[in-house]
Amino acid sequence: MRLIIMGAPGAGKGTQAPHIAEHFGIPAISTGDMFRANVKQKTPLGVKVEAILAAGDYVPDELTEQIVASRLDEDDAAGGFLLDGFPRTMHQVAALDDYLAAHGQQLDGVLSLEVDREALIARLLNRAQLEGRADDTEATIRHRMEVYELDTKPLLDEYRGRGLLIQVNGDGEVDQVTERVIKALPQAADQK
Ligand code: AMP
Repeated sequence: MRLIIMGAPGAGKGTQAPHIAEHFGIPAISTGDMFRANVKQKTPLGVKVEAILAAGDYVPDELTEQIVASRLDEDDAAGGFLLDGFPRTMHQVAALDDYLAAHGQQLDGVLSLEVDREALIARLLNRAQLEGRADDTEATIRHRMEVYELDTKPLLDEYRGRGLLIQVNGDGEVDQVTERVIKALPQAADQK
């Protein structure tokens, strides 16, 4: 299975991705986690992206595409993967298309977790208290929402046009949502 999970900030991508990936026996690959790990370890990449993450802006496409391609080159991703937080721009969509074409691979589905906006803001503010993420202040949350609406939401139309979009209601308990996602997916798997 080669999947993407999309959704607005706070929609639950990062929570759902490991559960879904485990179900299908594929790695969950989160660009946000990779960037945060680099920031924490103060690698050259981390130093470069720290302020960008804290502001809630997007890391430049080329940089993001490079780290994803290197990660997809690893052995555990050869049989499938779940991308969480990538692609986020049309440029990244094209880069992923190129990567997959070069490796004779294709996507099986693009999951979109749908949660209403007020619930999203409440979730993010709650997470800010629990996890203390630097990009979870109210002003940054609002900014990340705007960036998402502007740059990333159009990707849903792109993947809908390709017949890959699978929309799932992201409201509810974690287990409930995971179950909904898994129920929605076999169709995509059967078409492989
Ligand atoms: P996330 O954990 O997916 O919300 O990502 C946290 C932050 O990492 C984002 O707000 C961006 O600053 C950066 N980031 C993650 N994925 C991408 C991406 N595909 N393109 C650009 N920036 C990204």
